[in-house]
Amino acid sequence: MTLDLAAFARDKGIKYFMISYTDLFGGQRAKLVPAEAIADMQKDGAGFAGFATWLDLTPAHPDLFAVPDASSVIQLPWKKDVAWVAADCVMDDQPVEQAPRVVLKRLVAEAAKEGLRVKTGVEPEFFLISADGSVISDQFDTAEKPCYDQQAVMRRYDVIAEICDYMLELGWKPYQNDHEDANGQFEMNWEYDDVLKTADKHSFFKFMVKSVAEKHGLRATFMPKPFKGLTGNGCHAHISVWDIDGKVNAFADKEMAFGLSAQGKTFLGGIMKHASALAAITNPTVNSYKRINAPRTTSGATWSPNTVTWTGNNRTHMVRVPGPGRFELRLPDGAVNPYLLQAIIIAAGLDGIRSQADPGRHYDIDMYAEGHLVKDAPRLPLNLLDALRAYDADEGLKAAIGAEFSAAYLKLKHREWNAYCSHFTQWERDSTLDI
Ligand code: ADP
Ligand code: MG
Ligand code: MG
Ligand code: MG
Ligand code: MG
Repeated sequence: MTLDLAAFARDKGIKYFMISYTDLFGGQRAKLVPAEAIADMQKDGAGFAGFATWLDLTPAHPDLFAVPDASSVIQLPWKKDVAWVAADCVMDDQPVEQAPRVVLKRLVAEAAKEGLRVKTGVEPEFFLISADGSVISDQFDTAEKPCYDQQAVMRRYDVIAEICDYMLELGWKPYQNDHEDANGQFEMNWEYDDVLKTADKHSFFKFMVKSVAEKHGLRATFMPKPFKGLTGNGCHAHISVWDIDGKVNAFADKEMAFGLSAQGKTFLGGIMKHASALAAITNPTVNSYKRINAPRTTSGATWSPNTVTWTGNNRTHMVRVPGPGRFELRLPDGAVNPYLLQAIIIAAGLDGIRSQADPGRHYDIDMYAEGHLVKDAPRLPLNLLDALRAYDADEGLKAAIGAEFSAAYLKLKHREWNAYCSHFTQWERDSTLDI
């Protein structure tokens, strides 16, 4: 039974619905719709000019309708008058194939055809910075190794606890919060779920963290590498695949190395095979490449990967198998689009299962210190252009996630790269003026 949003509004005292969709660059776009008007909108969707957002549409396209998925509705814990609801993009009564939530739903259906149900947990790290974005917000947060700093996390207790209280209220089962490895950086963890649920929660989490930070006169950023020399914002994904009822973990096998089943290994094989290409999705900005492949940070380690390698419980590789029945992809960063992250994991993983992809050998070494000893591991792309080219060259991956999506994504991301290249920097003046 579909939840009736008008009745939900009456029940909860909601005055406005925020009908929200996510564009290709991860921006959340919304209309605030009074509860009095929600009944029609629930059926027909809220109208948008698609060209005005990043969806690769033209000004001449007909209206885009964002049709709320009522099962995703969340009353804002910090503003009870308003409810957020994730929407799917429709045009001329057809799904907009390149819209990220549509892309993910297609991949969920693909997995279901194989009798599989993918569940993930994400770890979106963020910094709390000054409202103008220039410095971290806590001038006393200066330790060389600030990870788990008890005093520093308590200085931001009002923000962190408020967000965690809201997650408790929403039933997300949060279980820990900490100060992370960079000055000013935090992480909050909640329980894994079906990919679409995780993607909606991930989107809402970003909205919530930014909103609560603003309420406290601060700003939250998920930017991959906001400060030179400090550890960047990762967004690791822990991945497991289950039977269609979600009861039996198909990745778990006690007899196998690291407790990862044969099917889990082929899914992982797909991720390994497509890693350089999928970086275009998991590391989608110019700045992303200052987090991966980075020189050592002041804390001693970047905690981000450089090479396409996997291992057991060791955080220096692209993939870690922390325990039986799941693996952790450490590649994605804070700029990743919550829907495309899940979609690309399924696309690569299903291709791995279908092609019986071998993840290759595992290297159980400190990759930061001894990486030079591994001669045959592919390196990750060095910049966004390399990643886009790798993606464009990977016909299998492009088809698996969707040809229309891939074309639109590549077009807009190349445009972004070109805008970056035409930007004049101080560095080029400094290094070229006197040549
Ligand atoms: P770490 O920092 O050690 O990588 P965290 O505790 O920060 O780990 O995050 C782990 C994430 O993995 C959480 O979202 C957790 O719910 C999720 N997770 C745990 N088990 C599974 C599983 N079987 N499948 C998918 N995700 C899982
Ligand atoms: Mg108008
Ligand atoms: Mg973590
Ligand atoms: Mg972390
Ligand atoms: Mg992690």
